[in-house]
Amino acid sequence: MSLSKERIDEFKKIYKEKFNKELTDAEASESANNLVGFFELLWKSSLRDMQREEILKKEPKGFHIADGIYNCMVCRRTVTGDESWYDQWGVKCLLCQKAVEDGTIPGFVCTDHDSHYKTWELKDKFKIHPQTARKMVRLGELKARIVTTEKGEPYEYIFLKKENPQLICRYSPERKSYDRHRKKESERLKWEWKKKERKKIKTSKNTSQI
Ligand SMILES: [Zn+2]
Repeated sequence: MSLSKERIDEFKKIYKEKFNKELTDAEASESANNLVGFFELLWKSSLRDMQREEILKKEPKGFHIADGIYNCMVCRRTVTGDESWYDQWGVKCLLCQKAVEDGTIPGFVCTDHDSHYKTWELKDKFKIHPQTARKMVRLGELKARIVTTEKGEPYEYIFLKKENPQLICRYSPERKSYDRHRKKESERLKWEWKKKERKKIKTSKNTSQI
């Protein structure tokens, strides 16, 4: 949709009032058309969301999405049609959908991207190589929610921040409280160790006196 000369002149006037700058006809036409394009996009996407909400009312478990190609909200894989599923947590691939449904991963993983780390983020942020991360999971040093393939093989590892406080940024309140807890715990262990050692020394002194 292209805007009329009248609308563009109006845009120029508003722009001049707001920013005290005179736009050329070409600049005004480009800016005004961009703005309209942006709002059209917003309008279309909110209309699409409203339509999906309506269908969800009739099909609360969700449905396939056939009006375009989307990224899975969990693993970011591109999906459409039969490979996709839409429900209250947004668009997902079928593997991630199953993981949400059976409780392997909580639904908020789809919408709160700050609630967890993926394997690539561990490498990016903490220099933990994917292979090391998997080993740490086996050793219980990291807790992962694992999305699996149809064959039951690991497909995507989700490290919830609340289950892995050692991964949280050093300056966050969660990290500070985790550090405080660890400090207390190590002081307690040190104190117990000292107590035991003192007791040992005492016992050995007594024995030597006998
Ligand atoms: Zn997925």
